[in-house]
Amino acid sequence: MPERCKRVCNGQQVRPINDRAHCIANQMSSNSRIVYAREYNLGFPGSRHLHPFDGYKFSRAWSCIKRSCPSAAKHRHYRPLPATYELLRRIHTEQYLDELRSRRVLTRILELPNNLPRWLLERWVLRPMLWATGGTIEATRLAWEFGACVNLGGGFHHASRDRGEGFCVYADVPIAIEVWRRQFSLQRVMIIDLDAHQGNGFERIYSDDSTVEIFDVYNGDIYPQDRTARAAIRWDHCLTSGMLDADYLGIIEGSLPAAIDEFQPQIIFYIAGTDIFEADPLGQMGISAEGIFRRDCLVSKYAAERQIPLVMTLGGGYTAESYQLVARSVTHLLAS
Ligand SMILES: [Zn+2]
Repeated sequence: MPERCKRVCNGQQVRPINDRAHCIANQMSSNSRIVYAREYNLGFPGSRHLHPFDGYKFSRAWSCIKRSCPSAAKHRHYRPLPATYELLRRIHTEQYLDELRSRRVLTRILELPNNLPRWLLERWVLRPMLWATGGTIEATRLAWEFGACVNLGGGFHHASRDRGEGFCVYADVPIAIEVWRRQFSLQRVMIIDLDAHQGNGFERIYSDDSTVEIFDVYNGDIYPQDRTARAAIRWDHCLTSGMLDADYLGIIEGSLPAAIDEFQPQIIFYIAGTDIFEADPLGQMGISAEGIFRRDCLVSKYAAERQIPLVMTLGGGYTAESYQLVARSVTHLLAS
């Protein structure tokens, strides 16, 4: 194993991704798929100084996954296509998509200085997000066919039909739902949003649609504190800053299985934000690396036990360790 990955994967904060033997032992029985393209990676020289997001966490996570689970990465990896304008129109208004031509609108959504050239935002931010949105669409098809699929990106849960915010431009999960709704006869879709932030964009999209219900566990002390959107959350767990593993996992174990059994969804979309990590500057929660791994294992276990297709997307995560947290959980999903 190359020194860099060994160091990263065996770091003190994040337990080693030593699931390789486990992965190899299970690779014949596991059906989970993974969707990723190098085009997901975003940012430009110097962008790390303008926004805390690590735009290369996708490729870093992919490198770790390939090393810990090479067979799955080779045989169960799919490369998506970027979402087209026609697909975006399944959710977004024409007016909003037109507004995205404006540098002012884009820099507001992306929380970047408004003097950056439009072409740079287009090439290094919008295009990657179109690829990641296409990835969620492809991951939905694969989860339906094989039982579980992770898109190594996406989870842009602050984007609604006519507005982007919080670094989210395209509402990838709702777009994927609408793309496949008719073909899969989807009448009960569940979004499990465990990112540190309230998923206000998706909640606004589905506020009047009882076929899509949302389970959201988030830090209510931080952005977006969207009261209107909150009314659309069916299972609402509004937490406070600094919550630790035991309380957090207790909420999930105590309420998520009952919510799934009550609604009996045909498919689950999971927004697995790692910004609940104790070192994350935006999430402001106190969850350890082990706690995040256990959380992701619980969600995949609940779906698998009930044979409900699971689509996992990444959501937020704003530390240098974010990609390691992602890689460990995805490796487990691919192996189980
Ligand atoms: Zn977040």
